[in-house]
This record gives sequence, C-alpha cells and structure tokens, in this order.
Amino acid sequence: MYVVPKGLQLTLAIIKPHVVKAPHALQGVNKAILDHGFTVVASKTISLSENQAASFYIEHKDRFFYQRLVNFMASGPVEVKILAKEDAIKEWRQLLGPTKVFRTIFSDPESLRGEYGLTDTRNAVHGSDSEESARKEIQFFFPEATNLF
Ligand code: ADP
Repeated sequence: MYVVPKGLQLTLAIIKPHVVKAPHALQGVNKAILDHGFTVVASKTISLSENQAASFYIEHKDRFFYQRLVNFMASGPVEVKILAKEDAIKEWRQLLGPTKVFRTIFSDPESLRGEYGLTDTRNAVHGSDSEESARKEIQFFFPEATNLF
C-alpha cells in the first residue's frame, strides 16, 4: 500500500531510456525531483515491451512519430514514478519544459527536457497532462496501487 501525504495531487513521471542509461543524467533528474519538493510515492525501473509502449501511447497511433516513439520507449529500461505535490501535474510539466526539444533547448534551457533531451522523441521525461491521464497512467504502471484512487 502506498502512502500519500494528505491533500497532495499525484502525477506519473517516466524517465526515458536514454536518461536511464546515463548515470549523471539520471542522477540529475532524480535530484531535480527532490529539489523541487516532490514526494516520490513509488518508483521502479522496468523494461517496456513494444506492445506495452504501443498501448501507453495509443492516442498517438496515427502520428508520423508513433513507431519511432514505441521503438524508443522499448529500447531500454525506463524509471516510472508516482510523484506527489500540491498542483503536481502542472508543476511537473513546468519542470519538464515543452515537448519539442529542438525548441526547448532555446526557450527553456534549464528545464529537464532542455537539459537532458536529445531530440523531439528522446525528450528525456514524461509527465501526465491532466488528472484523468494521471489516474490512468498511474494505474497502467502501478496496478497494485489500488488505495490511491
Ligand atoms: P508530451 O510528452 O509533452 O505530453 P505528447 O503527448 O504530444 O507530448 O507526445 C508524446 C511523446 O511523443 C513526446 O513526449 C515525444 O517523446 C513524442 N513526440 C511528440 N511530438 C513529437 C514529434 N513532433 N516528433 C517526434 N516525437 C514526438
């Protein structure tokens, strides 16, 4: 059973494969999480199968980058985390920076994507974009966390 401090919002974070492979980058992201006041409710390192990655990103199935994204997310271990904070969804998205790394490195160089993103696909980190997707995504990766919702 996971314990969440009262009144805090939950979000799902994924640290993507190229960051998990690079110890300094992984350490940098994990430090930023704590430095910005997030509570790590749960964390695990897992390897997604192509089917799992395809299912997680199914809403993008018609986009040109879908297969590339699925291949990348299944290319090595990812670290998935349930984060808690007041306004966690917005705060975590803010710390991530915008989706498109080639713009973000200029517009938000100190964001996590600005710092650790390599391309628009390999953009270092994921964050849920709404309460509904946070709930779905947490249940996707932590089906055992039945007491949270
Ligand atoms: P976000 O992750 O910021 O919520 P989206 O849900 O739109 O963004 O996209 C999901 C993931 O798909 C992104 O994090 C990124 O890895 C990849 N992606 C999005 N747009 C592009 C693109 N134009 N080219 C390549 N990959 C992309």
